[in-house]
Amino acid sequence: MVNYEVRVPTYKASAVSPSERERILARPIQDTQNIRKIVEPIIDDVKARGEKALIECAAKFEKAELKSAVMKAPFNESLMKVDPRIREDIDIAYNNIYAFHSAQLRPNISVETMRGVVCQRMSRPIERVGLYIPGGTAVLPSTALMLGVPAKVAGCPHIVISTPVRKDGTVAPEIVYIAHKLGAEQIILAGGAQAVAAMAYGLPGIPKVNKIFGPGNQFVTAAKMHVQNDYGALVAIDLPAGPSEVLVIVDESCNAESVALDLLSQAEHGLDSQIVLIAVALTDEQFDQVEAAINHHALRLSRSSIIQHAIKKSVIIRTDSTDEAFEWSNLYGPEHLVLHLKNASSYLPKINNAGSVFVGPWSPVSMGDYASGTNHTLPTYGYASSYSGVNTDSFLKYITTQELTEEGIQRLGPSVIRLAELEGLTAHADAVRVRGVKL
Ligand code: NAD
Repeated sequence: MVNYEVRVPTYKASAVSPSERERILARPIQDTQNIRKIVEPIIDDVKARGEKALIECAAKFEKAELKSAVMKAPFNESLMKVDPRIREDIDIAYNNIYAFHSAQLRPNISVETMRGVVCQRMSRPIERVGLYIPGGTAVLPSTALMLGVPAKVAGCPHIVISTPVRKDGTVAPEIVYIAHKLGAEQIILAGGAQAVAAMAYGLPGIPKVNKIFGPGNQFVTAAKMHVQNDYGALVAIDLPAGPSEVLVIVDESCNAESVALDLLSQAEHGLDSQIVLIAVALTDEQFDQVEAAINHHALRLSRSSIIQHAIKKSVIIRTDSTDEAFEWSNLYGPEHLVLHLKNASSYLPKINNAGSVFVGPWSPVSMGDYASGTNHTLPTYGYASSYSGVNTDSFLKYITTQELTEEGIQRLGPSVIRLAELEGLTAHADAVRVRGVKL
């Protein structure tokens, strides 16, 4: 065995008992108790002191001096000077995301469930949405697109963005350009829990939002969970999108370099990111090529120290069959699932739990992270077993209606009277009787 500097802990699936699988696939433990202790006072402070608290937080966490923590539209041209090539790239990504998310819009429905009883469902955009754009360790204009474009497709009339400032107190011009393109009304210059609190409770001149979207670190996620549970805030959240993760399944057809970079491109997101590789029936020689590529790139990449840290909590499983590989994958429920398999698309029916799937050797996660059209705000930490990623529906509410004719209430009324009386709800029953329905 070569003694690589960077090595991901490796297990042979055949030597692991079913009960051990969960332990091996455990995400890095998040210290939610302690995170809450940090986050709650910050939220209370923003609730009490508003913008003043945000300015102090920017000094503390971003080491930035701010005079005001809010930028209001229209944003000054000088704040969105973007290289024309990048502007074009942003526009291409915008258009692809727009196309895929527009196709998700569903027509209103109307069904006559029985004669004279018509039920309808109509969609309405959520009125005020708050989009959190992370910015602690990397500036993420791509997240502004991923959250803002579906909001626009859904027709949300009021968009607020919140993002941490850079050390010089400014926001990346790409983010301001996207905010302008989306028609966002304000950019709140705050990150972490303070940003979530500002959107949840509002600031002078900025009403509270109805729903908060966006990925972020543990402080952001904990704050979103907190405000969601505060009846005073009456705010919803999109999903618990935490530290990035990827699971890659490979067989002997894989290219070791592509596999290594697909893995490491998620490891570079943050210290708490996690990568999982499932290698199906690779020879020792093929497996060594993959390990060598991981080692080589992990040492070479610009965010090498973050990657090396993330890799320690990551895992490689060697299986004998693809069936076994998908069992492991469904158990883990990865945010991103990459298939470096021969005839990769034929395996899609085997996938039950995953945020987004990258099919075949030409589909690195990077494409979906930026520009293919799918959304990159996806469930992490195993939540893919019960949550979908952000999509157009996330920005809509559905309202149902029912309209009965006299014939309809005469037909259905007797059943409703009996069911209401069974539950002891006589006012319900009488509301039907009073309209002339008899048993
Ligand atoms: P971030 O914007 O989420 O967090 C930065 C903020 O964290 C700071 O402004 C500060 O307020 C707060 N913070 C930092 N240290 C703190 C402390 N000790 N106490 C209280 N608050 C503190 O940026 P980040 O840290 O770079 O994290 C971004 C995360 O988003 C990464 O984990 C990345 O993997 C994840 N991400 C996920 C997705 C997804 O779809 N799931 C997409 C993009 C990014």
